[in-house]
Amino acid sequence: MSNEKLTDEIALQKKLDRIKHTFIILSGKGGVGKSTVAVNLALSLSLKGLRTGILDVDIHGPSVPKLLGLMGTRAGVANEEIVPIEVFGQIKVISMGLLLAGNEQAVIWRGPMKANVIREFIQHVAWGDLDCLVVDCPPGTGDEPLSVAQLLGARSSAIIVTTPQQIATIDVEKCITFCRQVGLPIAGIVENMSGYVCPHCGKEVNIFSSGGGEKLAKDYGIPFLGSIPLDPDIVKSGDEEKPYMYFYAGTKTAQRFEEIVNKLTYPEKHEPDAAGKDAESKLPVDSPSGDKGKEVSMKFAVPTNQGKLCAHFGHCEAFALIDTDGEGRIVNEAYVTPPPHEPGLLPPWLSQQGVNCIIAGGMGSRAQQLFAEQGVRVVTGAQGEDPREVVEQYLKGTLQTGANTCDH
Ligand code: ADP
Repeated sequence: MSNEKLTDEIALQKKLDRIKHTFIILSGKGGVGKSTVAVNLALSLSLKGLRTGILDVDIHGPSVPKLLGLMGTRAGVANEEIVPIEVFGQIKVISMGLLLAGNEQAVIWRGPMKANVIREFIQHVAWGDLDCLVVDCPPGTGDEPLSVAQLLGARSSAIIVTTPQQIATIDVEKCITFCRQVGLPIAGIVENMSGYVCPHCGKEVNIFSSGGGEKLAKDYGIPFLGSIPLDPDIVKSGDEEKPYMYFYAGTKTAQRFEEIVNKLTYPEKHEPDAAGKDAESKLPVDSPSGDKGKEVSMKFAVPTNQGKLCAHFGHCEAFALIDTDGEGRIVNEAYVTPPPHEPGLLPPWLSQQGVNCIIAGGMGSRAQQLFAEQGVRVVTGAQGEDPREVVEQYLKGTLQTGANTCDH
């Protein structure tokens, strides 16, 4: 190996050493919602407190920038490295769509050039320390997934996205065979567009036969991670460039994404131990009963009037600030009076209090957007009275949510 190549290898290895785990998102065919799943799983991981990156290696049709509301944004360069765009203060993004001068520009690259650009995306991007990198691959098992698997192989696992119609096709089998051939562990299968959420009543109806993903996973001895319904709000969020996990937090579909993330194994949040070493990594195993990643502690804010959940977030008397530990137990509860009502003030103020999730009866869309920018999760339409019970129900997944009671 020439000196230059060796230096290059060392530089790449140094970058890889700072990324604890990579989830490679694959699908047999296009249009199954692979990018949608990739982006929302990445958001869900980052909302759990994990330092998360998303790398869109779909060179010909990058869709991640649109899903994250980054159309027209361009990544900069500092110290001879590409600086990823940071959205919501906690998730780093790189995509061909953030590097090209115009979105309409077509990229005509052949296999070896694609391999080089994917290498560049790791080696020459200032990712810093990441707990998780989510890689959105183009559909199929071509050059890009192969390069990604070869480059990131050791600390990565694949998530295969499919739909009820695709399950019985050869394309899904090809994905599984591909992973096995390149020695890439399979974190599991996600069945997307499974069942339909009625926009009027919110009820889920199975249009196509369901359960196929689970059966397929069983047949191949790989984990089934869960299913995401066909939800009109997912299309709307994509069209409006509003990341689903932020703008539709607390919905049943958002909970499905969270459930999938809870089934994944990933390294714990970066917290050096007493000896200064990183917490031990739990690498994914190709087994449904693999160890679950640990939850992280949270600080919730619930707007209240006379100690009870109040519908009008912007005009509440006090916020109940409720801390939970890594096991989801409430460890502290305090009431704080907010500053005088002024548009746009509460989201940064609550973020300064260390709040990472707000559970409200209602909230205007501007405030929701401001919270999203602060990286604070928003749950609207919460029902109930006692803020403590509301948080407990949210953690148990039993919180009743209805319409956003104050959408102005
Ligand atoms: P892929 O990356 O597989 O090509 P996309 O993530 O770009 O697919 O999704 C294709 C289209 O399907 C988009 O319009 C997206 O909003 C929509 N979509 C994806 N998942 C869902 C879902 N669960 N419910 C409704 N629409 C969805």
